[in-house]
Amino acid sequence: MTSKKQKDKARQYKPSTVRRLDTLSGNECANPNCQKKLIAEDNISIVSKICHIAAASKEGPRYDINMNDDERRGFDNLILLCDEHHVIIDNKENESLYPTSLLKKWKSDHEKKILELISSKNLLSKHPLSLNKVINAIGNKMDEILNLTQAVNAPNTDLKISFNHVNRYESIIREFAPYQGKLNKIYEEIEKEGSTKKELVLHNIKRVYLNIKADYKNIDEIRINADIIFDRVIETIWNNIDKAPNKLDEYDQETIDFSLMIVIVDAFMRCNILEEPPKTV
Ligand SMILES: [Zn+2]
Ligand SMILES: [Zn+2]
Repeated sequence: MTSKKQKDKARQYKPSTVRRLDTLSGNECANPNCQKKLIAEDNISIVSKICHIAAASKEGPRYDINMNDDERRGFDNLILLCDEHHVIIDNKENESLYPTSLLKKWKSDHEKKILELISSKNLLSKHPLSLNKVINAIGNKMDEILNLTQAVNAPNTDLKISFNHVNRYESIIREFAPYQGKLNKIYEEIEKEGSTKKELVLHNIKRVYLNIKADYKNIDEIRINADIIFDRVIETIWNNIDKAPNKLDEYDQETIDFSLMIVIVDAFMRCNILEEPPKTV
């Protein structure tokens, strides 16, 4: 009976995982040779399937005995495909044609493409207050006394990317970096009202990072997993936003993701996510 239970757990997706998958699908199958939409032409019927890259159960394709169920149901192990391609990649007879490495590449190429597309839409001009809302949602006070340190700028983005071996997120970081000025203006406006929102936001992001970092033994492990760590930080913050008192329901997921990426990329550049390169003398 435990095996039945386990099988179910690897299929119990967190709502934040499903929403992030939806947003980053751009309503398209992640197979680069497929142009099928994931919402049918009637605009209601969903023809997408959440597929496990490494199977949820022992009998499935690409099963990885070293993963736990949380990893199996995690964002990094899931890919959104059209109905047809889900059936094809999940057919055990096709296992060698669709190895884990290929599906991971489909996923990351596709999500990168969609994030770049989202970034180019400049959703802030359409929803100017969404960034403030995201800041407020991340920067809500916890029941603890904070000893906030002054936010600092990272010495150099290129250095930070290469020091941490960031790969998949590199172009995304460069895509969103230009919005840092806009974000700083909002932080400044809030500061004028006497609030320490900026420090609170950065503190909360750093805390999320430090929690995740505890799973990795040293800088080598952090480097190997840099992109996954980035995924995990974003997903955790999505979850926290969801629990925040001021809900973001008035905005669509794309707008929230866009605003969130601006805040996350800024936190990365200030060294609140991933490791700070040693200072050169
Ligand atoms: Zn599946
Ligand atoms: Zn497809």
